[in-house]
Amino acid sequence: MLDLTVITDADIAVPEEPVILRHFIDGIRVDSADGAVSERVSPSHGVVVSRAAIGGEVETEAAINAARAAFDDGRWSRISGKERAAVLLKVADLIEEQTERFAILETLESGKPISQSRGEVGGAADLWRYAASLARTVHGDSHNTLGEDMVAMVLKEPIGVVSIITPWNFPFWILSQKLPFALAAGCTCVVKPSEMTPGTTALLAELLVEAGLPTGVCNIVLGYGLPVGTLMSSHANVDMISFTGSTAVGKKISETAARTLKKVALELGGKNPQVIFPDADLEDAADAVAFGVHFNVGQCCNSSSRILVHEDIAEEFTARVVELSRKVAYGNPLNPKTQVGAIVTPEHQAKIDGYVQEAVAEGADVRLGGAPLDVKGVGPQFYQPTVVTRLTSSMRIVQEEVFGPVLSVLTFKTLDEAIALANDSVYGLSAGVWSNDVHTCLAFARRAEAGTVWTNTWMDGYPEVALGGMKQSGQGREIGRYGFEEFLEVKSVVMRVGRTRAPWVNGP
Ligand code: NAD
Repeated sequence: MLDLTVITDADIAVPEEPVILRHFIDGIRVDSADGAVSERVSPSHGVVVSRAAIGGEVETEAAINAARAAFDDGRWSRISGKERAAVLLKVADLIEEQTERFAILETLESGKPISQSRGEVGGAADLWRYAASLARTVHGDSHNTLGEDMVAMVLKEPIGVVSIITPWNFPFWILSQKLPFALAAGCTCVVKPSEMTPGTTALLAELLVEAGLPTGVCNIVLGYGLPVGTLMSSHANVDMISFTGSTAVGKKISETAARTLKKVALELGGKNPQVIFPDADLEDAADAVAFGVHFNVGQCCNSSSRILVHEDIAEEFTARVVELSRKVAYGNPLNPKTQVGAIVTPEHQAKIDGYVQEAVAEGADVRLGGAPLDVKGVGPQFYQPTVVTRLTSSMRIVQEEVFGPVLSVLTFKTLDEAIALANDSVYGLSAGVWSNDVHTCLAFARRAEAGTVWTNTWMDGYPEVALGGMKQSGQGREIGRYGFEEFLEVKSVVMRVGRTRAPWVNGP
């Protein structure tokens, strides 16, 4: 009998009626012209929890045109940073007021634990506040050493209409890593959430209206990648795409956007290593490894789904991680004590299991888990916390995003070998190093091919600190000042002052 911690009961009831979700186009909440809808069945509870309009070309075209008109007439792009900040701050207050309502829907649609949804929705308010602070700081530079009668300014201006496309794994959080920053810059937006988790994005429309965001500045179209996402990536009236999702779809978006040379910012997948040296605080490191792989059931771009452990401590450390993983509270997402919830779809659950079974067939050793988990009284769409050893770096389970609670353990002997193994990936999103020697940490941090390196910690993030990936993990940066700058365009203004310009045709 597998000795795991599983929570079956909850103190929040599943609502009897699904939430109805509509598009938000030019300030109005509308159904699709053809009446198309999709229903979201809760991954954890197996019942329909939302019924969303499904957009087509008509809705997407209308949303893009509304955003274009709103940008071009300056109702948002040409007002002061102070005025834009006031609206964003108001949205932040409203998010805080509505946290519980948003969090319950987020949990029901995604399967993530309610405590985590509360943290993500409540925490998103801080992203809106931070973005508001940036709205008042936009500035370029000036040049006054170009000669007595010349002066130049380099201005920063909003880039224009931005398409924002988000994934299902952190719906409201990722939306808030993009939308308030684009709005703070003065851009107007068309947003498409994942078809699986449209709820909190659609609910946000109410808050934007209440906060006084002018009509047409933010438009939300619900629906699938085809046709909504593709039209948002190809349309001539869109200036930039900010996308978070899989590397495969990111590549398609890049190709589509290239036809009109739109700016593209991509936050994509990861296969993120944590490297553990023998001199590290092993208790701390084991806890961070358990957190890194089980958080959001491993359905996380920053999941530390592979660890590289020095061979002298590999056996002891793996045993610690296995013991800690048994204690992680899996189960009913509507119980505040639950730490890990359900898998997003049955197909994804099968995909996770496929990686594990393939590794076993190739000679891997499953030290914990390795099978679906049926949570009594809730549902069968869960996966056991899983630890796999006896692997080589070329195996698919080590190279690809499993996107489940599955930890791959590899070993190394030297710092150089650890760095080579860490960088042996097409991805470069994040990496971690555990050691009490600052030289080891710094050497690793400088040579790791990753957009973020954590030393003696894992997955701490702040609105101030840029996020993004190297290699096939992405392009551009999100949040922080660097993320904000992505939504700004540079314009140089060169001015002559005083005397007549030296003639060109008639000579000096
Ligand atoms: P996905 O790529 O399947 O879908 C993401 C979004 O793109 C959805 O809204 C989807 O409807 C839309 N889409 C699908 N096809 C499209 C197309 N052809 N054109 C335009 N839009 C299209 O990703 P997912 O399964 O929702 O999310 C999981 C992936 O996201 C993982 O790979 C994960 O690593 C990645 N992710 C990355 C980050 C990061 O910050 N780097 C954060 C979260 C998730």
